Amino acid sequence: MRVKVRVTGIIQGVGFRPFIYRIALKNGLKGYVRNMGDAGVEILLEGEEHAINNFLKDLRDEKPPLARIHEIITTRLEGEHQYTDFKIIRSSEEAEFSGSVIPPDVAICDKCLKELRDRINPRHDYFFITCTDCGPRFTIIERLPYDRENTTMRDFPMCSFCQSEFTDPLNRRFHAQTVACPKCGPRVYLTTRSGEMLSCRDPIQEAGKMISEGFIVAIKGYGGFHVAVSTLKDEPLMRLRRAKHRRQKPFAIMARSLEATKSFAEVSSKEAELLVSPMRPIVLLRKSGDYYLSELVAPGLHNVGVMLPYTGLHYMLFDGVDDPAFVMTSANPPNQPIVKDDDEALKTLGGIVDYFLFHNRRIAHRCDDSVMRVHGEKQVFIRRSRGYAPAPVVLQEKASKCILALGGELNNTACVLNGNKAFISQHIGDVENVETREFLREAAGHLAHLTNSKIEVVACDLHPKFTTTKLAQELATKNGWELVQVQHHFAHIAALMAEHGVDEIVGVCCDGYGYGIDGGAWGGEIIFASRNSSEMKRVAHLEEQPMVGGDMATRYPLRMAAGILQKRLDVENWLMRNKRFFPHGESEVRLILQQLEKRRGVIETTSCGRVLDAAAAVLGLCYERTYEGEPAIKLESAAINGEDVLQLKPIIKGDVLETTDMLLEIFERLEKCALADLAFSAHAYLARGLAELAVEKALESGVKFVGFSGGVAVNELFTKLMRETVEAAGLRFLVHEAVPPGDGGLSFGQAVYAGLFHF
Ligand SMILES: [Zn+2]
Ligand SMILES: [Zn+2]
Ligand SMILES: [Zn+2]
Repeated sequence: MRVKVRVTGIIQGVGFRPFIYRIALKNGLKGYVRNMGDAGVEILLEGEEHAINNFLKDLRDEKPPLARIHEIITTRLEGEHQYTDFKIIRSSEEAEFSGSVIPPDVAICDKCLKELRDRINPRHDYFFITCTDCGPRFTIIERLPYDRENTTMRDFPMCSFCQSEFTDPLNRRFHAQTVACPKCGPRVYLTTRSGEMLSCRDPIQEAGKMISEGFIVAIKGYGGFHVAVSTLKDEPLMRLRRAKHRRQKPFAIMARSLEATKSFAEVSSKEAELLVSPMRPIVLLRKSGDYYLSELVAPGLHNVGVMLPYTGLHYMLFDGVDDPAFVMTSANPPNQPIVKDDDEALKTLGGIVDYFLFHNRRIAHRCDDSVMRVHGEKQVFIRRSRGYAPAPVVLQEKASKCILALGGELNNTACVLNGNKAFISQHIGDVENVETREFLREAAGHLAHLTNSKIEVVACDLHPKFTTTKLAQELATKNGWELVQVQHHFAHIAALMAEHGVDEIVGVCCDGYGYGIDGGAWGGEIIFASRNSSEMKRVAHLEEQPMVGGDMATRYPLRMAAGILQKRLDVENWLMRNKRFFPHGESEVRLILQQLEKRRGVIETTSCGRVLDAAAAVLGLCYERTYEGEPAIKLESAAINGEDVLQLKPIIKGDVLETTDMLLEIFERLEKCALADLAFSAHAYLARGLAELAVEKALESGVKFVGFSGGVAVNELFTKLMRETVEAAGLRFLVHEAVPPGDGGLSFGQAVYAGLFHF
């Protein structure tokens, strides 16, 4: 019998052809296997029917650990047998199917780590040791199919030793495209901040020692540069904060091992599982009671973002020092993508760092680290990037058209929806300037190319002025694509529905800001969605509160607090007492009071984030927002060990949860209650109030699911309190597990809204 088998999925760059070769031989079959230009694989088999059936069974049951099979398409062929053996043959550029993709970058595997440490191994201490089971993929590929000459590894011709492993069917590196050794592979070197080479025996160990001693070192990795600094010394941390203009924003750290992590943070079994996984994300961990790292790593927070080494280079950094961890923060100029090219690094980081640790392999695609946290037993994405992108989120149904969604404005990603697979790009960032917009355009194009997707529809936000809206309009006109604009919070809730495959939901969506259907500033919405009756609509929301000075109220949360409290009190004395927290002091306070009185320069918002900000300001936790979400994040940290002392009953008037009296109560108990308890009570009021309102709407319409989405859903306490109320009412509570609840998941929501739902 002769058959042709086409396989789609994540099957290039995962040791799939060597695997096929082995099972073909095992079953006594002849023919060939080759990579295709659509990221899939083609197999031709000749042999007995039962042998082919056994082969197909092995194909499903014994596939390599990193492979994901989407489809196996088998066609019977006529004609005589032509092959005398089984071979891996030259790849074809032919692209027939879509929906396959190359894998994300994978952390160094245990076997490679063992060889890295083995003194007699030829790759002992070789910083870029990899095999078919590990190493970079997404960040080095320029074109399909995934062959060495289509990656940035083509600059490094294999030596005879690597070649012998590459061609040996019994070797772990048989057809491993990233195979390299100290003789033929990328090299690593240290330079001064201006790029002058420093000669030393072991540049990596030397860099580790420099960091430990208090120098700032930029380190080139798989998907971009990190800036590394000691976690134990205040001076270099302070210097780095000043240079990066990051006064408060927490830095992620890389710990030398899981054991070392446990010396300063609490690690649950679920958190440990994520930390050591091949994806190696940054995981937010609760600081332990005897936390001893510098307070400047994650100021004012109860948790710290930790990742474990994911390349040989990272492991070797710790070899000459005793430090438990180093700060490893993405090197990116403010509001710009992570730095990936050497020249760019020297130019933009030269004024910040003391030394550079370079390697000489080009980075084809930048990719930031992923960030997660764990709520109870459930993982929550804060950023889904390295280790996950471009692997798809697989849905329960297929979209009728191929969609490209461009997301929103902050913390952005792009998404390509093709059939039942949603391919979400790496983290793009805040798309406000030219560099990031170009990065978005390039990442979206690359994603469509990698998945062989023929885009028909482009989706974006409803906001008329977003950069992404304009880009979508431009792409639609240029390519003749259909344009679909999706309301921000509708997109968040659509994402939740698609992730869980539910047709009806009452969704609570809480975040900072989204352009409403009525043009208003939304952000604390309850949304009813039903695919049965084809409708999606806002059914309830938080009380509208004034933002004095518009965006200024986002930056200075005391303005938010003033606007809310002024509804019940004369806030003049209180503001005057706090005038030092306003950049222009007394005159600014006067102006705020005037604006409030005359309702000039005041925008109304239903944002949940702004109410949390106001509570943080009243409690003195944050007067100026220096990074996105700072006041609300600090409010959660403050509430962690608190109790619900106030026990406030939600005030619901019609379809509105009031927030003014909640803030007033907190303000009035400031002297009498503990800060932690008041912070907790603010969470309890909002989370329970919104949950009660959502439950009421769900019961009214006979819906069984209440969901929670939007940036506030990364808040563990808020989510837990909401879950308790919803589950006590006998309803199912749904949250995101596969995509970020924040705006990193927005493109996915827009794509499924435009491709699956017809509201
Ligand atoms: Zn390996
Ligand atoms: Zn070699
Ligand atoms: Zn949002």
